[in-house]
Amino acid sequence: MRGRVSEDIVADVKRSADIVELISRYVALKKAGRSFKGLCPFHTEKTPSFIVNPERQFFHCFGCGKSGDVFTFVAEHERVDFPEAVRIVANAFGVSIPDGWPRRGGGGGGASKGLKTRLYELHTWATRFFRRCLTDGSNSAHARDYLVRRQFSPDVLDAWSIGYAPASWEALGGAARSAGFTDEELLASGLVIPREGGNGYYDRFRDRVVFPIRDPQGRSIAFGARALDDSNVKYLNSPETPLFSKSRCLYGLDKARDAVVEGRRILVTEGYTDTLMCHQEGVAWAVATLGTALTREHVGLLRRYAGVVYLLFDADQAGEAAVDRSLEVFGDSDLDVRVPALERGCDPCEFLVAQGAEPFIELIDAARPLFEVKLGLACGRHNMGSSDGRALAVDEALTSFAHITNVAKADLLTEAVAKRTGVDREAVRRRLAMLRQKPARRRSEQAVEAKAPNMDPVEHGILRAVLAASELVPCVLAQASLDDFGDSRVRRILERCIDLYDREGDIDLAELSATLQDRELAAIVADIAMSPHERANWEQWLQDCLDRLSERARRAELKELKQQVAEGPDGCDPDALAAILEHHRRRAGKPAGSAAD
Ligand SMILES: [Zn+2]
Repeated sequence: MRGRVSEDIVADVKRSADIVELISRYVALKKAGRSFKGLCPFHTEKTPSFIVNPERQFFHCFGCGKSGDVFTFVAEHERVDFPEAVRIVANAFGVSIPDGWPRRGGGGGGASKGLKTRLYELHTWATRFFRRCLTDGSNSAHARDYLVRRQFSPDVLDAWSIGYAPASWEALGGAARSAGFTDEELLASGLVIPREGGNGYYDRFRDRVVFPIRDPQGRSIAFGARALDDSNVKYLNSPETPLFSKSRCLYGLDKARDAVVEGRRILVTEGYTDTLMCHQEGVAWAVATLGTALTREHVGLLRRYAGVVYLLFDADQAGEAAVDRSLEVFGDSDLDVRVPALERGCDPCEFLVAQGAEPFIELIDAARPLFEVKLGLACGRHNMGSSDGRALAVDEALTSFAHITNVAKADLLTEAVAKRTGVDREAVRRRLAMLRQKPARRRSEQAVEAKAPNMDPVEHGILRAVLAASELVPCVLAQASLDDFGDSRVRRILERCIDLYDREGDIDLAELSATLQDRELAAIVADIAMSPHERANWEQWLQDCLDRLSERARRAELKELKQQVAEGPDGCDPDALAAILEHHRRRAGKPAGSAAD
């Protein structure tokens, strides 16, 4: 794939890019020695095993084995092809790319990757279209009125590109076709819906205020739209598309990300307008779910950015159900989840408008941990004056933590339950143990152990030398054969190194990992790449290793030879034996007759 695109441009972009800076846009990274560490965006984990090395401009996850350079990261994370990854990195670091740069994917799965690129373009275009319809249209006065009534400032509406979908069946579709988008692209974006009978399409969003939904990089990937009349469906979202999955997306994360990472806390609201108003009032670490309950995917996303999560639920029956659901979804995560107490019937957006940010933040700061809120709800539902009622409350509360696999954490919670219900702590513990028995077995942690490669030190040493100083490849080739290496993993890696060196005169670690196409081998390469490599004289180091390798090979051959002799003269030609013995003496640099050791 890489061969098809201009090497010069790729090299240019790579030189200008910084992998730590780029990955930091997706993952909260912490400095760890010479590298940076974070939670892997490619698999679910609790302790960081995702390492980014600025010197080698290389990342590797010791959990799931993903590794590569800045382009690999973007291609994997954004699920785009290589040219598109180069384009994204180039844009991020202000490198210009020629007009002729491939748009459609080259290589496997190209067609769908090309479509994705077009969908990004279509969403960017549609965002501008809706925005223009709001600001310029004479038919959108009622939409502007609505936003003014809700007290949104022009700056916020502009920054968030809030728009208006005209009250028309074909306004967007027609304009998009004029702008060069195809029916296929429009249909895939979900912006239009096929007419019954298969004759043409009509616009999905009509006479609605439109909220562009963006990915964490700020690209429009979907829309949420609010009705302006008494429509049955107050909020309408884009359907699931190749760009958009509502269970994995948080509205406003692109705008909130910096503030979230800085404060390590995030406020999750239930609506576009709540989030918008939070940002307008300076609570810049607010996001919203998109008409769905929080999912495990959301939790994975939240953990990448924050340590404390505030869940701002509507204060009603639905809010209580949301507490239960959240307990299940967050159950095992190490996030500190808190629930601010809103007064019943209070709308966060209106609260902010009426009272301002200060009392709002006080409310958030006073938020109680999720499990305490649950405990309060459980106690509220039962008659705590009776021992039966208390037992029921204990059971209800415990059931919601029974699936927590962290025993210490679950045990800590029993103290709060005991205190609140007045039931003896030992009794609470025993009850929890009973409740835990089933669920604890059902869930087995799927965390993948990071394996330190268990390797022969000599062979490992040679590999390290070659990866640290690729110009030593000819030196290895001159003194050893691949058969001298006992570890097939080392043989396979060296083979690829030699290939790459032959072709390009250098060994690019990302390319090496990619061509290995083997998780274990890639992990070995990454392990070496990530370990300090300050040795001043790799040549001397390599020579020592090669000497030991050759000595070992000599011993092995000799051992085999002796065995042949011991097995009897029948299967062995005495002349050949003598020749081999002589060869060994010479190889060992010892005079004839002293080979017996
Ligand atoms: Zn991983």
